[in-house]
Amino acid sequence: MSHVAPLRYCLEPHDLAGHRCRVSLTIEHPDPQGQQVSLPAWIPGSYLMREFARQIETLQAYDAAGKTIGVHKLDRNTWQLAPCKGAVTIKTVVYCNDMSVRSAHLDDSHGFFNGTSLFLQVHGQEDQPCLLELLPPPANSTYQQQTWQVHTSLPEAKGWEGAAQRHGFGYYLAPNYDALIDHPIEMGTPTVASFEAYGAEHELIFTGIIPGLDLERIVADVKRICETQIRFFEPETQRAPFLDSSDRYVFMTQVLGEGYGGLEHRASTALICNRRDLPIKGRPEQSEGYRNFLGLVSHEYFHTWNVKRIKPAVFAPYDLSREGHTRLLWVFEGFTSYYDDLLLFRAGVIDQPTYLANISRTISMVHRNGGRHKQSVAESSFDAWTRYYRQDENSPNALVSYYTKGALVALGLDLFIRRETLDRHSLDDVLRLMWDRYGRDFYLGAPKGVAEDAMPALIHEATGVDAGKFLQLYAEGRHDVPLDKLLPIAGLRLEWRAPNNTLVGIDWRTRNQGEEVQVATVYEGGNAHLAGLSAGDRLVAIDGLRVTSSNLDSILGRYAVGDTISLHLFRSDVLRQFKLTLTAPGKHECHVVANARP
Ligand code: ZN
Repeated sequence: MSHVAPLRYCLEPHDLAGHRCRVSLTIEHPDPQGQQVSLPAWIPGSYLMREFARQIETLQAYDAAGKTIGVHKLDRNTWQLAPCKGAVTIKTVVYCNDMSVRSAHLDDSHGFFNGTSLFLQVHGQEDQPCLLELLPPPANSTYQQQTWQVHTSLPEAKGWEGAAQRHGFGYYLAPNYDALIDHPIEMGTPTVASFEAYGAEHELIFTGIIPGLDLERIVADVKRICETQIRFFEPETQRAPFLDSSDRYVFMTQVLGEGYGGLEHRASTALICNRRDLPIKGRPEQSEGYRNFLGLVSHEYFHTWNVKRIKPAVFAPYDLSREGHTRLLWVFEGFTSYYDDLLLFRAGVIDQPTYLANISRTISMVHRNGGRHKQSVAESSFDAWTRYYRQDENSPNALVSYYTKGALVALGLDLFIRRETLDRHSLDDVLRLMWDRYGRDFYLGAPKGVAEDAMPALIHEATGVDAGKFLQLYAEGRHDVPLDKLLPIAGLRLEWRAPNNTLVGIDWRTRNQGEEVQVATVYEGGNAHLAGLSAGDRLVAIDGLRVTSSNLDSILGRYAVGDTISLHLFRSDVLRQFKLTLTAPGKHECHVVANARP
């Protein structure tokens, strides 16, 4: 077969020390009136304008004879090529030095690339197949990159001349632009393991130096999680969801000294975790950090169904040039946050006390912040771009998280459905109906997304329960989910306690900068607020005693509820003094407790 794919991309990691890639694109049939191309302004799953085009250092266009074509920029992301005859080639140099799951990173140890940072969208040809050539880094005795391998869920261009072998450099093929930018690519020498879940191949790769890594244990746990989720959505066929897009699923993890996060894709996920969170051979205890890592794995894998396939109508298809507003992120992130833990428990990866502790932590987090009475999870979803993703010192007073409160809406809804149907139905049925209606055939027909007002009817269809009022109050409205009334259905109850390490209360959140204590957040209505403190204040002394991050608790421990203390602090460079009356620590800590005999 000849290489006349309509769109041919080439990625060459050519300057490892300088973090630069050369990326070229040949358009076989450009718009004769002048082709427009652009780079996405955001990456699906992360709702903030990132303006990836700002990392393009140079961009030049050439006609088939190699003559330069005029280019001018139309807006922050879009280029207009001058009219020309025949194929055009656009050559860019892209700076790749962002160690996150959202963009691109290249150095002498590895490369990690999201297509949204590298590959130009050819306007009007988004449905054309995209052939991608991956070149190895330059041969250079300083580095050992000759041994680099490629890890991606993007399928090799089978049948094409120069097609990559598995894990090799060469040609890969995406059916369209949407797919091209949804299969991140890792190249380097990571630690690799693989397993099958119901016959579908899964690969786990870890980039970074990880002495003593207990890979066998991770494989065993992740396999149980994947199988449990596949059974959840496809109890009859046990068919993995990504098989329409790739013959494998890839968990690509960057292991760092500090970091946590993930981003979901149709047949892979990019994760960042702390080195200390990964299990060590010969140490069987389950650390909280490792549970968090497994929770992240569970969360991102669940997204393969819920948000990559079942998605809001506004994301089907994505418009990556501007914000896509939906009031439903509490379904896509909140439900996913509910099920990530629940399915760890159902998979037997965590025990019941651990699961209840996780729910308790989520309830405590939601109830700590007064912002939940100013914003509903539907409003928080809609404004994710400018509010949840752009948090500041006042966010706890002003915002609610569609992740954590969304998970409580899911928990409450699950219990509500179970109560109304005498346990014949649950939220599981709603997710399965949504998979059936929107997800399973997503890549086969015209993609259809979930309408903004569809949830009550979907819940009714799946379970027979009228949840309209419930959602009106707790998802569209700003009321607390009445878990105290609903948890007893599951033989559980809520207890509120004061954190047991707090002797007296100051309603602030502190940040330690070196030794210095700085006020991070002042809770609205709390004693720090009433005393006149402000976020940013740098604490100097309590009753004349110098305060540092290491002695703050021991100094406060000398006082009792009702005592008034004198605080010296710097606001900007002005020394100020405030009087603050200590209060009893608030009962902010929730504990979900199992009743002895339900
Ligand atoms: Zn998520």
